[in-house]
Order: sequence, then structure tokens, then C-alpha cells
Amino acid sequence: MAISSQNEASDYYQFDDLLMPEEQALRRSVREVMEKEVAPIMTTTEKGRKRRRTGNDTAIRGDGGASDRVGSGQGASGSRRGKQYAKLLPLQGYGCPGLSITASAIAVAEIARVDASCSTFVLVHSSLAMLTIALCGTEEQKVKYLPSLAQFHTVACWALTEPDYGSDASSLRTTATKVDGGWVLDGQKRWIGNSTFADILVIFARNTTTNQINGFIVKKGSPGLRVSKIENKIGLRIVQNGDIILKEVFVPDEDRLSGVNSFQDTSKVLAVSRVMVAWQPIGIAMGVYDMCHRYLRERKQFGASLAAFQLNQEKLVRMLGNIQAMVLVGWRLCKLYESGKMTPGHASLGKAWTSLKARETVSLGRELLGGNGILADFLVAKAFCDLEPIFSYEGTYDINSMVTGREITGIASFKPAILVKSRL
Ligand SMILES: Cc1cc2nc3c(=O)[nH]c(=O)nc-3n(C[C@H](O)[C@H](O)[C@H](O)COP(=O)(O)OP(=O)(O)OC[C@H]3O[C@@H](n4cnc5c(N)ncnc54)[C@H](O)[C@@H]3O)c2cc1C
Repeated sequence: MAISSQNEASDYYQFDDLLMPEEQALRRSVREVMEKEVAPIMTTTEKGRKRRRTGNDTAIRGDGGASDRVGSGQGASGSRRGKQYAKLLPLQGYGCPGLSITASAIAVAEIARVDASCSTFVLVHSSLAMLTIALCGTEEQKVKYLPSLAQFHTVACWALTEPDYGSDASSLRTTATKVDGGWVLDGQKRWIGNSTFADILVIFARNTTTNQINGFIVKKGSPGLRVSKIENKIGLRIVQNGDIILKEVFVPDEDRLSGVNSFQDTSKVLAVSRVMVAWQPIGIAMGVYDMCHRYLRERKQFGASLAAFQLNQEKLVRMLGNIQAMVLVGWRLCKLYESGKMTPGHASLGKAWTSLKARETVSLGRELLGGNGILADFLVAKAFCDLEPIFSYEGTYDINSMVTGREITGIASFKPAILVKSRL
């Protein structure tokens, strides 16, 4: 049975018609797991009521919380169905299922529809870290690391951003110095998702000989590696983001990612992962709409259900229109990728535009719930907050707009006019 026939309000244009049968089936089963097994525990996990079995911190992994259900397959009902979601990746071989990018993307949206943190956890692990190893690693590295990552027996993070280099990531300052048998890394990273507990840290650093960006696999517990959790986030609270300090961390030659030889190699990974990230706002907006659609029919004011008021209907329709358009843009982006036609500008436009439209959509949703729209228990407020970091990560809205802008005009506008020498 297709999702649309289950009367899911946000699926107004019956997206399933555009999907292959196996993509429809995956979408259906991810939705089922998320609704049955993750939704009921999500708010308690988010508020930190569930503690890790070991240690003193609430973590997205290892606390029996939301992402355990998504990642490990040990759902609340004891089902093993979730096992497949550990492998939501368009990678083939090495224990990965080789899903179409469309299948991976719609699964990301279905996860984000219920909980954006879970989708971020999965994306950092798979679409950034695993993809970097798959695209830029040696055969030995792929055989060594990917199978266990694909099963979530180990978890990875991906560290590009630094305290002083966010949007300007290509100027990063962490250094990699060649020594006998390996490399020594020195520097800092900031905002790195999953880093507080990751077994494997993909770290980008500047080669002190070539001055180019190189990539390295650093193992948890390496001497000189320190990670601390960033506190007080207002969004994606279940995800742990960390500050990383690297002080003379030795990485053996075998753990240098031989395919990362410049910032362009990092950008190749980002272009693919931006396709997936573009689907997070879509999923969030779908979840908010579905919640609002139910709420407005149930709550009464002035003797009628909130759904009966023209102004509220207009807001619902605007939200719904945004979602249909976002889905179609996201779907087309996947098809461009699958046919080998996708450019970095296409991916950036997709990520920037869906996050912009989703921002309008969740904002309307928050408004429609009135006071309840600011309570995390009603999920709309949580989704509203979760969208904010997504608007800013994997390239902010502005940076992604400029990536597309450069592609369509041939003129890069990243550097401000103040730095360009006047010819007057
Ligand atoms: C929750 C979260 C998770 C993250 N996870 C990771 C991760 O796993 N790995 C990782 O490497 N990084 C991660 N990041 C970092 C993220 O990619 C950066 O936050 C992002 O690139 C923006 O950098 P910044 O925060 O330093 O903002 P800044 O670069 O300081 O930008 C601030 C503002 O200035 C604007 N701006 C900057 N430059 C320009 C310009 N040239 N023209 C116009 N406007 C400009 C930006 O658009 C933005 O609005 C994460 C961030 C967050 C918030």
C-alpha cells in the first residue's frame, strides 16, 4: 500500500507515484519504524531524561534512545527491521546496500519527519564520513573501515570546520606534518557532530609541505586528541557536537586518505551530501504539516475547529504548496545525480532553497499551534528549532547561494568588495 493511500496529509501530490516499488517499500518501512519506535521516545530523549548506561551524558548513541532505534535495529518492540536503516547509503559493496540516491534521500526525509537529530546523526556518519572513505580512501581503508561503519558497529564523524574558519573552510589552519611512518596533526575543530563518541574521526588538515588540504582517519583515544561537547544548543539537541583539539596526534601513513589532495576533493563529498541534506528540511516540513493538519481539526475556538477559519486554511495551503514543491525539487536533484548530470550548483541550490522554504513552512506551523507552538512536547517547536542549524550547516544558505551564483554567472562573490583592490 502506498503512503499516499494511508491518508498522510503532507503527501498531497502522491509522491509515491514517482518512486520505484523498492523505494516506496523503503519509505513505508522507515516511516513505520520512526512512528512506532522513535516518535514515542523522542521527546524524553531530547530533554535528556534518558541517561547513558555508562558515563554521565545523554548521547544519541548508546543510551537506548532514538538513534539506537534507527541505527542498531534494536527497536522498542525488539524487531530487527531497523537493521536496514543503518545502511541508508548509496554505496555499493563493503557491507553497504547500494541504494539509489533517491531511496537514501527519501529515507532521510522520513527520519527527519519524526526527528531531525536522528537524520543528522545518520548523515554525518554515512553521507560525510563513510562517503569520504568510499570516495577518497584506498581499497585497504574501505575494506578495513566501511563494513563495520555500515552496520553501526562503529560510528564516524567528519571534521572540517574550525573555530576561526566556518564558511571560509578552505582557509583552515589545522596542520599535517609528514614524519617517519606517518603524519602529525595539530589544530582545532569545532561543531563536529558525533565527535564526542565517534570511533573514527575523519579530519581535514593542511599539509605543511604542499599547503593543500589532506584527509586523515584518526582513531578515538589517539594520544593528543581531546573532544568536548558543545553545550546549550537550541536545535538538534540529541546530536552531540564537539570541539576537538589535536595536539601532536600521530596518524600512520596507512590512515591518510590518499584521495584528498585539495579542498576540491572535500567539495566533491559535500556536493553529494548536500543532496541528502536538502531532504532534511523536506522531512521536517512534512512532519510539521502533518502535526498541524491534525491539531487544527481537533482544537476548537469560537465554537469551531481551528481548521474552519479561512486564515488558518490559507496558512495550511501555503505550507502544503511549499512541501509539494520541495519534494519535486529534491526528487529532480536525485535524478540529476543518478544520471550523472548534477553539478555542485544544482546541489547547493537544492539545499539552500529547501531550507529556505522549510523555514517559512515550520514558522507558519509554529504560529498555527498558538501557545502550544512553543512547547517541545507538541514537536512543532522542536522541529522549528531543529531546522535552524540545518539552515546553517553544510554551507549556510548564503554560501550555497553563492556556490550556485558562481556557477550561473561565472563570477565568484565569496570575497567582499573591501578586499578587492580598487582600480580607481
Ligand atoms: C549543529 C551543527 C552541526 C555541524 N556539524 C558539523 C560537522 O559535523 N562537521 C563540520 O565540519 N562542521 C559542522 N558544522 C559547522 C557548519 O558547517 C558551520 O557552522 C557552517 O559552515 C557556518 O560556519 P560558521 O558557523 O562559522 O558561520 P560563519 O562562517 O561565521 O557565518 C556567519 C554568517 O555570515 C555569513 N557569511 C559568511 N561568509 C559569507 C560570505 N562570504 N558572504 C556572505 N555571507 C557570509 C554566513 O552565511 C552566516 O550567515 C556544524 C554546525 C552546526 C551548527
